[in-house]
Amino acid sequence: MQTGQRHASKALGSYTYIPVGASFDDLDALAAPVDGKVFFAGEATSADYYGTAHGALISGLREAARLGVGDATVEQLVKP
Ligand SMILES: Cc1cc2nc3c(=O)[nH]c(=O)nc-3n(C[C@H](O)[C@H](O)[C@H](O)COP(=O)(O)OP(=O)(O)OC[C@H]3O[C@@H](n4cnc5c(N)ncnc54)[C@H](O)[C@@H]3O)c2cc1C
Repeated sequence: MQTGQRHASKALGSYTYIPVGASFDDLDALAAPVDGKVFFAGEATSADYYGTAHGALISGLREAARLGVGDATVEQLVKP
């Protein structure tokens, strides 16, 4: 997913916003793997921390765990 805001000189990017009629379930749907072969990370797939850099990071760890690679877990990252 990519918006044109990346190239807007006064915005330099965008992040997730949940409008009326949408829900956190939509973000979970974006995060769902397809056929166990295609995986999705990025802040827009992070229902708990959407719109943030740490949401993007955590989503990457989540997908790495799904793939069975990496030794950091989401739990290690979000719990003090
Ligand atoms: C103005 C602004 C201020 C912000 N301030 C904060 C803040 O203070 N704190 C905070 O936590 N978060 C902040 N954010 C949000 C944070 O920047 C994003 O949530 C985070 O960068 C999302 O990371 P991401 O990896 O999901 O997506 P991105 O960082 O957008 O990375 C996606 C990458 O995919 C690439 N890409 C897109 N399409 C394709 C394609 N077809 N093929 C190959 N590559 C492609 C893009 O070029 C980009 O490099 C801010 C965002 C904006 C716009």
